[in-house]
Formats: sequence, structure tokens, C-alpha cells
Amino acid sequence: MIKRLLLHVCCAPDATVPFRDLKAEGWSEIVGYFYGSNIHPEDEYRRRAATLDFLSEREGVFVSMRPYEPEEWLVHASPLADEPERGARCALCFALQLRAAAEEGERRGVTHLSTTLSISPHKDAALISRLGREAAASRGLTWEDRIWRKNNGFLRSVQISKELRLYRQNYCGCLYSRPDRGLPERSGICGASAGPTTLKASVYDARIQHARKTPPGNS
Ligand code: SF4
Repeated sequence: MIKRLLLHVCCAPDATVPFRDLKAEGWSEIVGYFYGSNIHPEDEYRRRAATLDFLSEREGVFVSMRPYEPEEWLVHASPLADEPERGARCALCFALQLRAAAEEGERRGVTHLSTTLSISPHKDAALISRLGREAAASRGLTWEDRIWRKNNGFLRSVQISKELRLYRQNYCGCLYSRPDRGLPERSGICGASAGPTTLKASVYDARIQHARKTPPGNS
């Protein structure tokens, strides 16, 4: 049976173990998919995308990069700006990413859908599985349920990332998760080592205001 998998990738460090383990399993095809519009600011998006590009080439797994459209993400997520991490905003964010991945999977004619999100010990694996299953079913795909952090998966990802000298961010991705937005600094959400970066908060606040006034699809 031909089994073709689309793997939603949240960042390069989190893709290290899934890429290697899946390649060892004999899938007919493995293709990655990077959503990215939840990542702010744009410099940070570009840095993460470039790191993933490097990993893609190094490991021989093609990754499809969605165009960067942060306003589209903000239209949906900004009403939940005050939600804590792991709350309703993150559930919505996962759903947006997984639905986009399922859509891409259908377009590419894959049979299965999975995600790297479950490698993080800070993310709700049961929630990710439920949302992934729903997204896959909506496009006629089979959800490949993996909890990558099992069997020391997270530690292996940290180790491989160090070996390959991958950039490892110190916050999850969106402006609401940044330490310099007044939220407590977190480490290990997607891997951590980088120092603080500069955020032009006023630019992103303006984008939020714009997004709130603009109906989805018209931004
Ligand atoms: S903290 Fe991470 S998962 Fe939650 S909304 Fe922001 S980018 Fe998405």
C-alpha cells in the first residue's frame, strides 16, 4: 500500500527526530509543511524558516513553506491575546496550523497527516491529537498519531539540534509568547538557547488593530 505523509512542522529543532524516525519507517513519501504565520516578528520568522530550510536539505526531506501572512493569523488570534499560554489561543493556533496542513496535504494527494508539535513537553498532546484527527478527517486524510516526546524524543531533538548547530528559539512563536511582552520567560517550549531579540511592539500592536478591524480574507 502506498502511504504518503504530510508532516506539519512547527520549527526545525522539533522536526529533527520526526524526520529521522519517519525516514527509517519506509513511507512512500514524506513531505514537510511549515505554516509560520504565527511567528513574530518577521525577522524571527525568517530565521526559523532559514533554519528549517537548512535542516530540510541536510536530512533530505522537502518542506513546503506557506507564504508568511501574520495578519491573517492575527485576525483569528488577537481576540484571544490575553489568554495564557496553553489556553484557548494556543488551541486555536494549533487548529489553524493543522487545518492549513491538511489542506496542503489534500492538494498534494497524500494519504496521512501528522505534526511535530507533540515533541514539546510543554504542549498538550491529547489536544493536538484531537485537533489533528479533526483536520485530517475534514480533508479525507488519515491522522498519524505520534507523540514524539516519548522514548526520550525531546532530549534527542535537543541533542541533534546541538550537533547540527541549529538555531533554537527562546519563545514559542507569537508576539504574545515573547518574554519582552511582559510574560514570564520560558525555556524548552520549542528548545531554547538564544538571547532576547528586539521587538518593535508598536508595529505589531498596529497590526493587531488592523487585523481586528479587517474581516478574515480581506486583510
Ligand atoms: S504561544 Fe505558541 S501555540 Fe500559543 S498562540 Fe502563540 S505561537 Fe501559537
